[in-house]
Amino acid sequence: MNNPKTSSGTQRRREEGYREKALKMYPWVCGRCAREFSGKNLSQLTVHHRDHNHDNNPEDGSNWELLCLYCHDNEHARYTDQQYFAEGSTASPLAPKTTYKAFGSLADLLKGKDDIG
Ligand SMILES: [Zn+2]
Ligand SMILES: [Zn+2]
Repeated sequence: MNNPKTSSGTQRRREEGYREKALKMYPWVCGRCAREFSGKNLSQLTVHHRDHNHDNNPEDGSNWELLCLYCHDNEHARYTDQQYFAEGSTASPLAPKTTYKAFGSLADLLKGKDDIG
């Protein structure tokens, strides 16, 4: 069996790099719910980027925060960005959330006026 695609591991390696650094730097505790982690369930502890830019990985770890899967999900629920899935999460991508429609209420208003008129 030939596998021509051998260059797919590069980015993953870099992502694991900052995770390892963050885990060495910080105690294995979720920054939100204070849940403690050890070797067994450490895979549930993820590295969150405070500025949501996963390319911003300063050596002092100032952009990193250790969050459990649930709190990490919660943290990103406030933003509807796609970066969550680019952060090295092993979770399968969920169906894209419908974005908030700013003009929805306006359209309703116009429709209502039309009906009245
Ligand atoms: Zn948590
Ligand atoms: Zn994050």
